[in-house]
Amino acid sequence: MTERLCLVHYHEIGLKGKNRSTFENQLVTNLHRALKAFPILSVSRISGHIAVETEDRRASEELAAAIRRVPGVARVSLAYKCGLDEGEYCAAAVRALSEAGEFETFKVHARRSSTTYERHSLEMNRLVGAVLCESFPEKKVDVHHPDVTVVVHVVQGNTFVYAASAPGVGGLPVGTAGKVVTLLSSGFDSPVATWMVGRRGATCVPVHFSGRPMTSDTSEWLCQDLVDALAPSGVVGRLYVVPFGERQREISLAVPQGLRIITYRRVMLQVAERIARLEGAKALVTGESLGQVASQTLDNIAAVNEAVTMPVLRPLIGSDKQEIIARAHEIGTYDICCETAPDCCTLFMPRRPETHARLADVLEAWESFDHEAMVDELVDRVEWRDFSQCPSYRAPRGTLREHHRELSPFQGGER
Ligand code: ATP
Ligand code: MG
Repeated sequence: MTERLCLVHYHEIGLKGKNRSTFENQLVTNLHRALKAFPILSVSRISGHIAVETEDRRASEELAAAIRRVPGVARVSLAYKCGLDEGEYCAAAVRALSEAGEFETFKVHARRSSTTYERHSLEMNRLVGAVLCESFPEKKVDVHHPDVTVVVHVVQGNTFVYAASAPGVGGLPVGTAGKVVTLLSSGFDSPVATWMVGRRGATCVPVHFSGRPMTSDTSEWLCQDLVDALAPSGVVGRLYVVPFGERQREISLAVPQGLRIITYRRVMLQVAERIARLEGAKALVTGESLGQVASQTLDNIAAVNEAVTMPVLRPLIGSDKQEIIARAHEIGTYDICCETAPDCCTLFMPRRPETHARLADVLEAWESFDHEAMVDELVDRVEWRDFSQCPSYRAPRGTLREHHRELSPFQGGER
């Protein structure tokens, strides 16, 4: 019986010249971790692809679906692995085409890489094509725009045969673009923003500001659920939670109503930047989208941004809500975000927030309370939880482990 495996295609990695093997190795490592629940025999590089083989040699649609969620994967094909015997690979081609779903036209595309196999690819095209024409007499060959292409790829002593392949999420393997700290609320936008930078290869460390002790800890649970939902893509290594309720109350008493949100955000960014430095992260990420709410006008974004020196990435800045929601459905975060939870965003909100803050006013408000002591104290009270799905995550040494509590009630690890 011919073996079936998953053949993983990646294009962007192919463009990376000398770095190529670093990228391929990271993708192999990430796939191993992402597929922990499957009986995987091997994940190996073969001539511009990665082959994922299961112990039973019968790769399933479920396995292919799990692979497709891993950043760096452009396409996944369920392929039959044969020897060099032409009867065997022709039979596999018939089987692959019969499993390809609805189609009217097809073509064969034979390729040879690093092989001494004596048959030329043109000859293989003709041979396999003739067998397929005989087996599917009602279907037509179309070499220019076929509905299905049957690929017959000879690599060393093996032939890989497949017809159907499905797109993956694309992007680059997590761990190839450095580390970022993302600001994660339990709204729709920030989980999508986190996933998007993760898909571009960044190892993500989200920070959530909760309203605790002035609100319940529901938003913290939702954030943990969000990270769990993102687990199949392996983008998140650790979640930090900062109980912010009391400090927000202090801010709300100290600064003019209209500037409260901007001031909360400045403190949040500064705390996130401090965590980023401890983590060795090189940028911050938010889920802001231009003009979406009062705090996301250009004036207000600039007034908040002024509080930090690290680059702040905003992958959703030009996205519409509908696009963000569609993405949230795709990555599995939508339903979690539908649950409302009071977090620091709902606490001490002004009735009329300033929509176009003047920097001079913001800075005056900023000087009206001891913001340095506040940021120090918040960084000191950070809690965290580690997630094992992200092999590229390295926890910072020293400081945080010694001085910070793990996120209660999960002392010591995962739920
Ligand atoms: P989201 O849907 O991501 O919550 P939003 O539409 O509610 O965004 P804002 O509340 O203005 O917009 O938040 C803008 C960005 O600020 C968020 O995308 C997120 O990156 C960050 N942010 C807001 N609230 C929090 C929070 N409680 N903890 C961490 N980051 C937050
Ligand atoms: Mg929000």
